[in-house]
Amino acid sequence: MIDPFGRQISYVRISVTDRCDFRCVYCMPEHMTFLPKADVLTLEELERLSMAFVHKGVERLRITGGEPLVRRDVMKLFNALGSQIGKSNLKEVTLTTNGSQLERFARDLASAGVKRVNVSLDTRDEETFRAITRWGDLNKVLDGIDAADAAGLAIKINTVALKGVNEDEIEDLMLWAHSRGFDHTLIETMPLGEIDGDRIDQYLPLSIVRAHLSRKYSLHESAHRTGGPARYVSVAETSGRLGFITPLTHNFCESCNRVRLTCTGTLYMCLGQNDSTDLRKALRSSPNDALLDNAIDEAILRKPKGHDFIIDRRHNSPALTRPMSVTGG
Ligand code: SAM
Ligand code: SF4
Repeated sequence: MIDPFGRQISYVRISVTDRCDFRCVYCMPEHMTFLPKADVLTLEELERLSMAFVHKGVERLRITGGEPLVRRDVMKLFNALGSQIGKSNLKEVTLTTNGSQLERFARDLASAGVKRVNVSLDTRDEETFRAITRWGDLNKVLDGIDAADAAGLAIKINTVALKGVNEDEIEDLMLWAHSRGFDHTLIETMPLGEIDGDRIDQYLPLSIVRAHLSRKYSLHESAHRTGGPARYVSVAETSGRLGFITPLTHNFCESCNRVRLTCTGTLYMCLGQNDSTDLRKALRSSPNDALLDNAIDEAILRKPKGHDFIIDRRHNSPALTRPMSVTGG
């Protein structure tokens, strides 16, 4: 699949639920309204949709959410997709998780063929963890990370950089991640979805974090790529890798190879734009994939050149009202 700007679409992020057992302050309000269950695709439908993309050349699938591991029987989907690795275009199935359920699922994920997981962790301080996630338990997440490590999964820690919240802890998180052999990626807050707080208060440009770190550490540009938008440096002192995802200070759209599917079958061609295609209709109106294939082709031809995220300083309103928990991180 090639879009109008010549980019090959080889990566799909699939949100399998919009529900979550955390309420991270930058992601959703505490009293979030979730989708009615009837609107959500079944696991079989999600598998069929995923495989329609794979048959069109998609090589990597990332399962996300909401929190993907709170979806009932989600291992059925991992097992089904994992069994296609190497037997189709599919090369990799990965997962983005908040880690709360990882202790329970780590071994099954590894058996299903998952090799890498991204675990979101913004702090290792219990109090700050509760302040950010509202409902989360840090120790459960740390146990989940240990279990994933023990199961042989490669781990990347994702940290959203939050001004005045975890700003002073970023170095410590990096040192901890690297000492455990994990990659570490920092993410800028993106203006997605209505939240209870103030986004301008939270926004911390990673250029500042990087400048601060480079006073103490030797950061060398790295050619390492994971198929995502992160740009990596290697840190000489830790021999670890540090990634930066900077949607606001640096536009990464020119190399975008991905589209995103919500748990209701809506395909978003760009995280930062509203245009979408309803694949559920095509999926449900016929048991064979001809309609679905056409709908996917037509959608890829509409993939926009890029996003134009801005944090609206005058009105403090999100650039998009759709939260990250709908389109998946
Ligand atoms: N629940 C899982 C988790 O937290 O990893 C998967 C879904 S979550 C939406 C994926 C990633 O998006 C997480 O790393 C989270 O920190 C990040 N995220 C959520 N809202 C964000 C926002 N407004 N700006 C930047 N990153 C955000
Ligand atoms: Fe849940 Fe992930 Fe959003 Fe936090 S970032 S509320 S864990 S979906």
